[in-house]
Amino acid sequence: MRLVVVGAAGRMGRMLIKAIDQAEGCRLVAAVERLGSPALGADAGPLAGLPPLGVTVTGDPAAAFAQGDAVFDFTSPEATVAFARLAADAGILHVVGTTGLEPAHLAALAETARRIPIIRSGNMSLGVNLLAALVRKVAATLGTDWDIEIVEMHHRMKVDAPSGTAVLLGEAAAAGRAVDLAEQRVAARDGITGARDPGTIGFAALRGGTVVGDHKVIFAGAGERLELAHVAEDRSLFAQGAIRAALWGRGRAPGLYSMADVLGLDT
Ligand code: NAP
Repeated sequence: MRLVVVGAAGRMGRMLIKAIDQAEGCRLVAAVERLGSPALGADAGPLAGLPPLGVTVTGDPAAAFAQGDAVFDFTSPEATVAFARLAADAGILHVVGTTGLEPAHLAALAETARRIPIIRSGNMSLGVNLLAALVRKVAATLGTDWDIEIVEMHHRMKVDAPSGTAVLLGEAAAAGRAVDLAEQRVAARDGITGARDPGTIGFAALRGGTVVGDHKVIFAGAGERLELAHVAEDRSLFAQGAIRAALWGRGRAPGLYSMADVLGLDT
């Protein structure tokens, strides 16, 4: 499978280049960075700690997409919306790991997914997607007298909060309760907040050091607590998940898919 990586010099971009190099049946055909990036013109291999791969980092995504079967996109929300349209013009699969997407970005992706398959997940790991399935089941089982709080910690460079994974877990909890997360979400607390509103789903985001990604979903009842947690130790698991998604998405009909679809999870 011929693969393109956008945001090639980013943390996930470099991880994806490495994972593609090691994946059977996959080949990196193009690597894209933003115009003005110091990585432009460099060989993609050394960026990822590999020997030269003969793939030069380019600032021309349209030309890059024309060579591929799929594009991996772990960049920023605005860039992802633009890359989706270019992927649709090229008729290739778009695998999106970018987080922090607002409703307008999601609507734009849904529109573009009428032309190509787009697989999007705030977390590409098997463990987190299994966790989401468990959270949904637990939330469906326990009543709203059990408060749901989601705590996450990430490295100091992360720019969005709560994390895409925390939102994914919140959506799973909301789906279990058959409510809309947007209406129940409490994303921050500060000062005199008053007592907790029953049925809300709270988030707390910690930032520091080099933490790859810790998530805990707490169901707090009267006199007992149930805690479900996931710890990501290495970014390579997200890249492995993205490759799994690309191989699954090859030849699929246009549409918006999730990692739960890729992994065959009933969430
Ligand atoms: P990063 O190191 O900052 O890399 C982001 C890359 O995207 C950089 O190369 C950046 O280029 C590029 N980029 C940003 N805006 C762009 C634009 N408008 N046009 C072209 N390129 C652009 O960040 P990261 O840690 O790799 O994370 C990237 C995204 O993936 C984040 O949203 C993060 O939350 C998400 N993520 C998702 C998963 C998952 O499993 N779904 C796992 C890990 C991370 P510049 O440096 O020039 O800005």
